[in-house]
Amino acid sequence: MKGWNEFEIGSVLFAFEGSEDGIKVQEKLPENRAYTENSSKKRSVAHWRVQKPVHNNNICINCFNCWVYCPDGAILARDEKLSGVDYVHCKGCGVCVEVCPTNPKSLLMFDENEENTEALAKWPQKESK
Ligand code: SF4
Ligand code: SF4
Repeated sequence: MKGWNEFEIGSVLFAFEGSEDGIKVQEKLPENRAYTENSSKKRSVAHWRVQKPVHNNNICINCFNCWVYCPDGAILARDEKLSGVDYVHCKGCGVCVEVCPTNPKSLLMFDENEENTEALAKWPQKESK
């Protein structure tokens, strides 16, 4: 039986030029790493999203649960506060909504084509327990 590190590499999209050399690219400072043409830095990777998370700044308590759990690093933060969603990379998986602890949630999923302003206007009220 082969070990995991003995298999031939199949389809891998490396983020940085030279990533196939493993540790060497990790040793470089971030500013010295060149993104590959097919990395998500240079290509949109959100075409298949059918629903998007919308952030409601008025309810958010900046707990950063969504930032920690987003599998794509698509939650944006600025000055130690949540500032929105990176729609170029967000896949619409909904994990951020699931882990948001506020009542009502500060992130909710809406149809991809809905304007964020319209989504915010129909935000639900606090649910009584
Ligand atoms: S929907 Fe998924 S990919 Fe998009 S911001 Fe939320 S957790 Fe991240
Ligand atoms: S999980 Fe909800 S309350 Fe916490 S930072 Fe994200 S949007 Fe704000």
